[in-house]
Amino acid sequence: MITGRHYINGQWTDGESGETRDILNPYDASVVARVSEGGRAETRAAIAAAREAFDNGGWPQTPASERGRLVFKLAELIERDREELARLESIDTGKTVEESRWDMDDIAGIFRYFAGLADKDGGEVIDSPVPDSTSTVVREPVGVCGQISPWNYPLLQASWKMAPALAAGCTIVMKPSEITPLTTIKVTELAEEAGFPKGVVNTVLGPGPEVGAELSENTDVDLISFTGGIATGKTIMRAAASNVKKVALELGGKNPNIIFDDADLELAVDYALNGVFFHAGQICSAGARILVQEGIHDRFVAALKARMERITVGNGFDEKTQMGPLISAEHLAKVESYVDIANKEGAKLLLGGCRPDDPALQDGYFYMPTLFAECENHMRIVQEEVFGPVITIERFASEKEVIERANSTIYGLSAGFWTRDPDRMERVSKALRFGTVWVNDFNVYFVQAPWGGYKQSGLGRELGRIGLEEYTEVKHVFRNH
Ligand code: NAD
Repeated sequence: MITGRHYINGQWTDGESGETRDILNPYDASVVARVSEGGRAETRAAIAAAREAFDNGGWPQTPASERGRLVFKLAELIERDREELARLESIDTGKTVEESRWDMDDIAGIFRYFAGLADKDGGEVIDSPVPDSTSTVVREPVGVCGQISPWNYPLLQASWKMAPALAAGCTIVMKPSEITPLTTIKVTELAEEAGFPKGVVNTVLGPGPEVGAELSENTDVDLISFTGGIATGKTIMRAAASNVKKVALELGGKNPNIIFDDADLELAVDYALNGVFFHAGQICSAGARILVQEGIHDRFVAALKARMERITVGNGFDEKTQMGPLISAEHLAKVESYVDIANKEGAKLLLGGCRPDDPALQDGYFYMPTLFAECENHMRIVQEEVFGPVITIERFASEKEVIERANSTIYGLSAGFWTRDPDRMERVSKALRFGTVWVNDFNVYFVQAPWGGYKQSGLGRELGRIGLEEYTEVKHVFRNH
């Protein structure tokens, strides 16, 4: 049985309560691990350790090149243990091991990128209107950071926060989702092996309304970075008002994928599948809302349906599997309820809408790839985030109409469109109000490019140079004489 504990001030601990939680494999609901379950007491201890390490431990004063060296070392250790990490991620989430391996490669690259950036910003000297004075602008680490991550990409999302924070000179308290903590525990072990000073990296395991709430409310935390649902994000934002801590939010998405008549049909179908069926559609940037222009509509839908029929659903550890289970019984019930809603709203079910028949998959949280056509803008299945393997198709006539419809959402994380017309590429990418816009692609992301949402999809950006800057304060030093 895999086990895991909190890591506070350089020590592994069961915590004050000594309570534990069983971790289930979504493939068959079997217990695969037992980990510590903490609450406010453990979180306060971790915050105190991070505060001490920041204020008196010398971490912010450590030369940026040395911090970068440690972050780089962590990248190397992640590469060394790639296979173990990938297997842990798949046991925890049910996603295919192949997908988890890609995640681990991305994660190592993320640590390398921020390690390299650590010592690149030396500040700037600016012009001063006062004779004989000097004016400099420098960036300094923001302080103690609470980092709360979701269950869909557990270590990938944690790494987007952990790598820039450490490179910038912050100290951190990580809180993985209580249902998927295994890879965060493992990466904490690797951070210890890499040699981060005590108190710089802390990990507390436990439920959101306890551990996450304490991190958001506690006035010794200077920044709270959160990835998860909109409702939780709003709760965190309110709690963060306690000491006006900085807030970074990566929230949900309902991401339009627009297929114009002049699209390359084959490619558009390929990428539409990639856009949704990674991790059974449990992706914040899933292109689950597809809008198809009249002239290509019927051919696109027929080709998409034919391809969806061939998706192999099963155990993520089986090489033939293309799509694993959903994360939990609770989440499966949510996806099922959305399918009921869509049926009642009058969407036309073309495929799926049920669990698989295969007797081998009955204990797990599986759901079949599902396709609804003839959907309308106002339907809940179109407007709300389902977070499952469910695609809706809407028909449209003109460019103007589709832009209005694509933008008519509370979300603004990502969008994509397919066309061969360069003028349209320019016009439509300007008109779409989303943090990322893909032209003739979908769901491509890389560490060099910033990621984040317009509107209620979030606040701030992760990745890219700006992803490091989010963990800094800007100081102007004016020196006269
Ligand atoms: P969630 O909001 O339920 O939970 C996310 C994290 O918040 C978990 O660690 C949870 O324990 C914690 N939490 C719960 N209640 C809390 C509280 N009151 N205070 C503080 N923390 C609390 O989200 P989830 O179901 O784990 O993840 C799915 C959501 O995440 C989806 O909406 C998805 O779109 C979003 N997501 C967004 C991105 C992005 O980049 N924008 C990436 C991945 C996932």
